[in-house]
Amino acid sequence: MENSPTSSHNSITFQRKGSPSITISRSALRRIRELSENSDNVETGGILVGHELEKNIEIVQASDAGPNADSSSSHFLRDTAHCRDFLARCYNDTGADYLGEWHSHVVALRHLSPGDLNTLIGILIDPDYDFVTFAVLLVVVGRKKVELLVYAAEYVTNEARREIRVSELYRGNFPDAPDLIV
Ligand SMILES: [Zn+2]
Repeated sequence: MENSPTSSHNSITFQRKGSPSITISRSALRRIRELSENSDNVETGGILVGHELEKNIEIVQASDAGPNADSSSSHFLRDTAHCRDFLARCYNDTGADYLGEWHSHVVALRHLSPGDLNTLIGILIDPDYDFVTFAVLLVVVGRKKVELLVYAAEYVTNEARREIRVSELYRGNFPDAPDLIV
């Protein structure tokens, strides 16, 4: 099925026909899940780092929010200096670069908010970054379960116009069980 994630030993790939694929290491997924579950009253999040393979993205590590993050039950601002240091370390170690963002919702908002989309547009049109594809992960923390949403955001340029396309690649349980059946 085109919308089912595919699983390998170390990572999970999310894709949908016509959209870039996003591969995430199992260790990054596990970290995101744990950080989200440990913050069930206020939002949390961080940056995603990895490698680009043409239009596709491979995320190898996820940061935490940092000590100076500003968050409530309905908003989240990560600790910029902390995330910058995290990125510098990753880049030094493996050449992994900034390629996405993740954050959680602790109220029943099971999609990106208008504020989330505005932030995303700001990142994609920033000429300092020049992204082709950008990964966005949202974790919806409920009382009894956590749900993962994976989006691929693309900044598409052609002669006629430029547009930002956000595709939902996945919505469901965290596919981190080692015996995931696809
Ligand atoms: Zn949000």
